[in-house]
Amino acid sequence: MGTHSDLVLVTGAGGFIGGNLVGELRGRGYERIRAVDVKPINEWCQRSEDVENLSLDLNLKENCEKAAQDTRDIYNLAANMGGMGFIEHNKALCMLSVLINTHMLQAAVKFGVKRFFYSSSACVYNGDKQKTYEAPSLKEEDAYPALAEDGYGWEKLFSERMCRHFREDFGLYTRVARFHNVYGPWGTWYGGREKAPAAICRKVIEAKISGKHEIDIWGPGNQTRSFMFIDDCLKGIDLIMNSDILEPINLGSNEAVTINQLVDMAEEIAGIKLKRNYDLSAPKGVNGRNSDNTLIQKYLSWEPNTSLRTGLEKTYRWIYNQYLARERGEAGVVREAAAVAR
Ligand code: NAD
Repeated sequence: MGTHSDLVLVTGAGGFIGGNLVGELRGRGYERIRAVDVKPINEWCQRSEDVENLSLDLNLKENCEKAAQDTRDIYNLAANMGGMGFIEHNKALCMLSVLINTHMLQAAVKFGVKRFFYSSSACVYNGDKQKTYEAPSLKEEDAYPALAEDGYGWEKLFSERMCRHFREDFGLYTRVARFHNVYGPWGTWYGGREKAPAAICRKVIEAKISGKHEIDIWGPGNQTRSFMFIDDCLKGIDLIMNSDILEPINLGSNEAVTINQLVDMAEEIAGIKLKRNYDLSAPKGVNGRNSDNTLIQKYLSWEPNTSLRTGLEKTYRWIYNQYLARERGEAGVVREAAAVAR
């Protein structure tokens, strides 16, 4: 194991999970962190002033080398992604994340990086196993025979296999987690890339503030999903990075809910009831999906355990404050304050 003075790289650090991970690593005492994202630094979801922040396009090999040089550990979270609305309409862009993953793995080998974490996704799972609304719990082996989510999921499946072969052929220490729907403060909550929990919180807040007590829901509302709170995700990343788990493993909550139940919870937090309008032509993804946590329990005697009600309440409050700040034209101020907020 290294020390807290070793240089650690987080890619995708301007995004939701990466930004939270930088905060977490600082909290754990890491003294040297390099944070990289393609976005200009002033557009990052969170920014920590006391780390090395670099704006680099990691599609390019030379930039991956700049990012990887001198690092001991790499957390490779950069990807072109978003919620269903984004990934259904941007399949080629999603697949181009293969450039980031290829070049980061090559750079890791070139610079003798000690440990490499890759964030895969539940979107790698075979679509035929997710046709019922009864939220089938997906075991790691259910990714094969492969029939991943078109575009985004296929790229993830390919890149997680690339991690395996870099481990087997080049001796690179790689660890891979399949995240299932992560949500929480500092996640995207408007603009088209937001996921269901944030989108629903925002719509409920809009209804509450405007007094127009209606909500548009994508799909029939009975699709089932599980949602993992960001704090559980960060803990799982740490445990998996430090484990002997060689194959991709689920990192997700197994508290499955329907989208209607998610709306019920957000309404309850807001203290209102809304008329629901179902948009059946909107992208809705697979009918049912849940995380089977048998394997993570076996290896780590732990699984994500923040209840959806607890995590959603924290997320709702955060989006509510962001919403009001944005209305006042102060969103940027709130965002920068993130560096000290965590
Ligand atoms: P995010 O979109 O908030 O963060 C990803 C970041 O990567 C963005 O800030 C983006 O600007 C950056 N990026 C994109 N292309 C880049 C490039 N060429 N060079 C450098 N940076 C680039 O997403 P997130 O929710 O924080 O997700 C982090 C990782 O976790 C991603 O790999 C994602 O696929 C994976 N994941 C997330 C979820 C989830 O529910 N949030 C679920 C499954 C998997």
